[in-house]
This record gives sequence, C-alpha cells and structure tokens, in this order.
Amino acid sequence: MPTYIFGHTSPDSDSIVGAISLTYLKNQLGEECIATRQGDISAETAFILDKFDGKIPELKTSVAGENVYIIDFSDKAQAPHDIMQSTILGIVDHHKLGDLTTSTPLECWIRPIGCSNTVVYEMYKAYDVEIPKDIAGMMMCAILSDTVIFKSPTCTKVDTKAVKELSAICGITNYKELAMDMFIAKSQVNGATARDLITRDYKAFEMNGNKVGINQLEMVDISVLDSRVDEIMQDMQDMKKEEGLHTMIVLLTDIMKEGSTLLTVSDDESKIETAFDMKLEKSKMWMDGVLSRKKQIIPFLQPQFKS
Ligand code: MG
Ligand code: MG
Ligand code: MG
Repeated sequence: MPTYIFGHTSPDSDSIVGAISLTYLKNQLGEECIATRQGDISAETAFILDKFDGKIPELKTSVAGENVYIIDFSDKAQAPHDIMQSTILGIVDHHKLGDLTTSTPLECWIRPIGCSNTVVYEMYKAYDVEIPKDIAGMMMCAILSDTVIFKSPTCTKVDTKAVKELSAICGITNYKELAMDMFIAKSQVNGATARDLITRDYKAFEMNGNKVGINQLEMVDISVLDSRVDEIMQDMQDMKKEEGLHTMIVLLTDIMKEGSTLLTVSDDESKIETAFDMKLEKSKMWMDGVLSRKKQIIPFLQPQFKS
C-alpha cells in the first residue's frame, strides 16, 4: 500500500515541490510513496516544473484509509476533508503547529526556517541521499519563492546556505535572475477573475471557533491591481458569506517595495486594527515591511480571537 505525500490546499510551489522532493527521498529509502496535490498548480509552480522537467503530482482530495505524509502545513482547515480517517505517518513543515493530531507515533520534521524544502534538504543530508539535478533546481526555486528571494523575515542562514548548495547541484549560479523570472510569472493577473486572485494562495485558519481566511498575492508590482480593488473587495464579501468566515483578508504583497496592502472584509474590523496597531481606511491599509503571513500576520491576529 503506497503512502501519499502532499502539501496544503491551494498549493503553492513549496507544497508541490515538497511533495515531489520528499517522495523521491522516501522512495530512495525504500518506502513506496506517491506525490499528490490537493488542487490546481499556480503559474509560478508551472514555471518551475517546466524549467526542471518536473511532473505535476496527481490530484488527490480524499485520503480516508490511506497512509500519508503531509508537508508545508499541519492545520486541519488546509487538509483533505477526511484527513482524520487517514494515518499520518509524518509531518514536514515550517509553520506554527496546527490542530492536526494523530493516534499513532509519527515522524516530525518541523523547523522555524524559511521553507519546507529547506527542511527536506536537511533530511537528504541526514539520510545521506544524493539529490538529482532537476529536483535540486525545483527545491532551490521553492526556497527562493517562500523566502521572497531572501527578503522575508522568515528567511534564515539555513535557507541561504541550502540555496547556494542546491544551485551548485543544479548548475544554475545566477539564481536571483531565475527567481525574478519566477516572480514575474507569479505576478501575471491578465485574464484572472477576482475569485482566481483571492484564492491563489488562500489559507483558512480556525481562531477560537472563528474561521479566518487569508489570501496572499505576491507580486513584482501591486499597482497593476489598483483599478480592480473594488471588484476584489466585492468578491471577498461573497466569499466570506460562502465560506462562513468571520474575517477575510487579502494581502497584496509588493516584493520590490517590500510591504503589503491589506484588504479586509470582517465582522469586526477593530480586531485587525488592534492586532497591528494601525487604522484601516475603507477596509484597507498599507503595511510597510510586511512580507510574511506566517510571521507578521497570523501571530498578531490570532490573539485577538482569544476569549
Ligand atoms: Mg506553502
Ligand atoms: Mg512553505
Ligand atoms: Mg508563500
């Protein structure tokens, strides 16, 4: 019986590449594993797979009765609906510990670093398994994506070192140029509906009984969306209703200006203003220096929902 390896819903490059890189490692270690995904891949991920001849993992949204490894998340809200009927053999991640629990002992590799693929890189080293060139290239891109080319406050020396070593393995020394091309691919919004935009990198969180949805759009220039903000806010209203959210947030992150515009539709906007000690103007605000949802948004927002 194979073990399925997958990342979070609305998969980003770390989730897709992580499923691929961890599956290869586990296969080398003699475990029969299959890389899967919970949803469509992004334009950025397509760019990476194309560049390094990667195969798109198969779609799998139901895991009852299966053995699984999960990567890049540990929140139930980001898992397949029937995850509790599966056996979680292990977690590889770099986020806050979520609300998933297991009934059997598990393998756990969770570190406060910039990318799950950096954790996988450490695992390859620990098990002394050689990383194939193409997988090294994909892992390098995933790390450059998650760390926003080392600019994110989540980035650590472990991540920069991993990128340097992976770049030597895949033979691409000018990785910053490759990363910019990747972010340009990620920034494409032509033809995207408002719903595409607000779900592109969407994550739901359970905050003391309240559902909070946060989407992040990382772009080379967020001003291209200026004319669409009203349409985006309207669709956020609709999505908030459909998903039964207390708060929906969209972060428009400008990786060149190094900050984010936060847009919100919320039952209580004061929670957001208090969390960040800032004032919303028409449910919007610019947050200078904010690049990371996991490190600069969630830890401040979550305490506002404590009873
Ligand atoms: Mg991710
Ligand atoms: Mg990640
Ligand atoms: Mg990200």
